[in-house]
Amino acid sequence: SAVEGAWEAIRRRASEAPDAPATLAGDGGSATYGTMMRAASTLADGLKNVVDRGTRVGLAATPGREYCASAYATWARGGVLVPIASSHSEEDAAYVMEQSGMKIALVPPNVDGEEDAETYQKYARAAKRFGLEVELRHVETMEKLLSSTTSTDFSDAENVGADDGALIIYTSGTTGRPKGALHTHRSLYAQCAGLIDAWRWDASDRIIHALPMHHIHGIVNAWMCAHISGATVEFQRTFTPRGVWARLRDESKPPVTVFMGVPTMYVMLMRALHGSMAPDARLASINAASKLRLTVSGSAACPVPVLEEWRKLTGRSLLERYGMTEIGMALSNPYDEKKHKPGYVGIPLPGVEVKLAPLVGDEVAAEAASDDEYAQGPGELLVKGANLFAQYYDNQRATAESFDEDGYFKTGDVAAMSSDGYWRILGRASVDILKVGGFKVSALEIEAKLLENPSIAEVAVLGIPDEAYGQRAAALVVPAIDTETGQPVNLTENDIMTWVRHNTPSKHHLRVVKFAEKVPRNAMGKINKKDLQKTHFIDCF
Ligand code: ATP
Ligand code: MG
Repeated sequence: SAVEGAWEAIRRRASEAPDAPATLAGDGGSATYGTMMRAASTLADGLKNVVDRGTRVGLAATPGREYCASAYATWARGGVLVPIASSHSEEDAAYVMEQSGMKIALVPPNVDGEEDAETYQKYARAAKRFGLEVELRHVETMEKLLSSTTSTDFSDAENVGADDGALIIYTSGTTGRPKGALHTHRSLYAQCAGLIDAWRWDASDRIIHALPMHHIHGIVNAWMCAHISGATVEFQRTFTPRGVWARLRDESKPPVTVFMGVPTMYVMLMRALHGSMAPDARLASINAASKLRLTVSGSAACPVPVLEEWRKLTGRSLLERYGMTEIGMALSNPYDEKKHKPGYVGIPLPGVEVKLAPLVGDEVAAEAASDDEYAQGPGELLVKGANLFAQYYDNQRATAESFDEDGYFKTGDVAAMSSDGYWRILGRASVDILKVGGFKVSALEIEAKLLENPSIAEVAVLGIPDEAYGQRAAALVVPAIDTETGQPVNLTENDIMTWVRHNTPSKHHLRVVKFAEKVPRNAMGKINKKDLQKTHFIDCF
C-alpha cells in the first residue's frame, strides 16, 4: 500500500536497509537504521505506561542518534512530539510545557554519554516553579538501549494513523507569543515528499546537520527528508564554521552531498575562510563546498551579496527557499542552479498552491528587483496543500482566523510574483511593511538596496513614527570591515542618508540611522523587529 505518514515512511525505509548508516559521527554519534530502530523499540517499551495515542512528549534539543531514536519511540507509541529548545528561558520552557499539555519530557544524554544536566535542571525548575506535572526522564545512551533485547516489530505502531498528531512545533515568536503548530504524520509526509522530489534526495545522500532541532528547518528539511530517503545525517551538535569546513574537506570520510543553513551561517562560513585558516585548508574547503550537490538557505531572507559572494567563492549557487512552521516549505528555487533567481524564493513546491489576497488601503510601492515587473502583487501570500498544519494546538480561535474560506492559510507575509513566475518575499505585513505618506514600503527592499553599498555589512530596517508621513524608515547599520586595516569602515549617519537619497526613491529615504557591531538575531537567523524597536530605537517612539 502507498505510504501516507512520515513515521510509516521512515520505518519502512529502515526495514528495507537496516545496515545503512542513519546517523554518522559528527559529534552526534553513529547508528545504522537497524540499531536506531532497535534502540527506539526499547525506548518505546519503556514508555508503554506513560505514552499513548496523542500524549504530548517533550524532547530536548540535543541533536544526534539518541534524539532520533527518542522521536521514533514516541511515534511508535502514537505520541505527539514537542521539540523543546535548550536555549529556552525558564518562562519559555514552562509556557511550552503548559500550552502543549506535556505529560513527559525526554532529555537525551550528550554524545559523550554525559547527561544533559543543564537542560534537564532548567525544565525541572520551570515545572516546579509553575506547578506543572511533567515527568522528566533521561534517555539512556545508545549503548545501554541496545544492551536490552526487545523486538523491533513496533506492533503498537499499527494503530498510528496518518491523520494522528505527530509534532507540535512552536513558531519563532517574531510577531507575538509563539504558537504551537500541530502537524500530522500526513502533513509531515507531504512536506517531505515534495522536498525529496524537488531537491532529489536519495539514499546515497549525506547531510551535515548543524541546525537547531526545534524548528521545521532542522526537523523536516534536514532530518526527516534524509531519513525518509534512507540517507545519512551527520549531526554537529552546535554549528561552528570550523567544524563544518573541517568535515567538508575531510577526505577520509565519504563526501558530504548536502548542506542546509540560515543566511547568517553562510556569512559565518565565508568569514571563517577569510580568517586564520591555512591556505591549503582554505583551498580544500572551497573545493569541497563546490562539490556539494545541494546547498540550501532559508528561514530568513538571504541578502543578494551573500548569494553572490558564495557563487564567486565556490562557483556554485545557494538554493533559496521560503517556508514557515505552519506550512513547511512552500516556495523554492528550482534544483537547476542555472534557474536560480537571486532575491527571489522561487516557485511553488510540488503539491503546494499559492495565491495572493489584496492588501487593502494604501497603494503599494514595492519595486521589482532587477528590471522585471511584477505580474502579480504585492499582496498577502496564501498557501494551500497537504503540507498544511492541522491547527494551532488548543487554540481554535487563532486556527480559524488563519484560514480563508477556501482553506488557504494566511501567511501574514507580503509577496509578489515576477513575470517569469518567481516569487519575492517583501516581508511580514505586521512589521516589515511600512506606511510612508500613503505608500506601503517594504523594509526588506530597503535592506536589499542598502546591502548594495559595499561599506555596509549588515542592516535591519524598521518603521518609526513620523508626523508628516505617518511612518518613515530607520536603519540599524553594521559597517563592513576594511580589508586593508581590519577595522570597520568609518561611516556617519549622513554618509548613509546621502547614499540612500542618491540611490532610492524618496519613500525609501531614512529618517534615522544607528550603528551597531551586529544585528541581533535568534537561533534561526531571524531579526525580531519589535525587540529592535525597544533595544535600539526607543528614542524614536
Ligand atoms: P511567529 O509566527 O511566532 O511570529 P515566525 O513567523 O518568525 O514567528 P517561523 O515559522 O519560524 O516563525 O518563521 C517563518 C517566517 O520566516 C516566514 O513567515 C517568513 O516571514 C520568514 N522566512 C522564511 N524563509 C524566508 C525567506 N527565504 N525569505 C524571507 N523570509 C523568510
Ligand atoms: Mg509566523
